[in-house]
Amino acid sequence: MAKSSKVERTELYKDHLVQVFLSKFLVGEIAVLEPTFDPNQGYQYRIVEAILGDSTKVEGFLEKLSRTGILNRELFDKTIYCPECRSFKISTHYNCPHCKSFNVRKSALIEHLKCGYIDTEENFRKEDELICPRCGKELEKPEGDFRKAGMWCTCNNCDKSFDIPEPSHFCRNCHKSFKFEDSIYENVYSYRLSEEAQQEASLGWILITPIREFLVSHGFKVETPGFLKGKSGASHMFDITAFRAGDVNDVTVIDLATTTEDVVSEQPVIAMFAKIYDVAPDRACLIAIPKINENGEKMAKLYKITLVEAKNPQEAINALEEKCVSRSEGKDQ
Ligand SMILES: [Zn+2]
Ligand SMILES: [Zn+2]
Ligand SMILES: [Zn+2]
Repeated sequence: MAKSSKVERTELYKDHLVQVFLSKFLVGEIAVLEPTFDPNQGYQYRIVEAILGDSTKVEGFLEKLSRTGILNRELFDKTIYCPECRSFKISTHYNCPHCKSFNVRKSALIEHLKCGYIDTEENFRKEDELICPRCGKELEKPEGDFRKAGMWCTCNNCDKSFDIPEPSHFCRNCHKSFKFEDSIYENVYSYRLSEEAQQEASLGWILITPIREFLVSHGFKVETPGFLKGKSGASHMFDITAFRAGDVNDVTVIDLATTTEDVVSEQPVIAMFAKIYDVAPDRACLIAIPKINENGEKMAKLYKITLVEAKNPQEAINALEEKCVSRSEGKDQ
């Protein structure tokens, strides 16, 4: 793996949506990410969509992760799209090579081995028996006295017969007929976490997993990401939601804020406040890696967001233990 990819990966691990997504692999929730097919939307990666909150960003997100070697992709299917309207609702037509009509019927060819006569199955059929039109004998045993000898097509339009039809495609959305050569033909992938990313994650570069494990070991029921409905009816995503075992009404929400600069800005505090104002959890905690600016610190205090500053997962866990977990274990005022 090229060194530049490693640098790029390190940058990506700081993105909290990447962390949320990768933690799904690390806790075993996803082994292989496969798309699901929706008859109206086509192939979708629903988990990724839920994390990103925007279906139009899914493709770019997965592309970036596989290009940098975090994910390994494998060909899962191909999708054929209409060149006119880009719909994937496409059927295949098998056309007459003489008049190009798709009004073609397909029959099985049968060879009567005793007399060598070959014809379509319909010409052998007399009610529910097969009778040879040449010698008049009944056909009894497949692969004994007769065999299937391929297939035969007959055009209902021009009446000509042929063995190999010409395929074309028909768009069920805009009704355009088109050839394969004019189609848009794209790959659909499944994804796995690469070995490199697994190793890098185990070095603690991906934060959510160790935090999650820590909370679970303290008896919390944890979701990453967690979605909570607010008073407004809107659903809000937190990087981590933790519920005390046996008490779903005791809710702790945790967001992670990372930066490529020296300090995290106040922006994640503002974003978190907007969500907790609506959701009203019992505890809100923002983990800033490595630290937050002065303004952010003031705002967190004002909004009653517990601030944890940490340079690595272990520091974050130590601070969480002191500031969040111990409080929810009975020191709440
Ligand atoms: Zn024809
Ligand atoms: Zn015969
Ligand atoms: Zn179309």
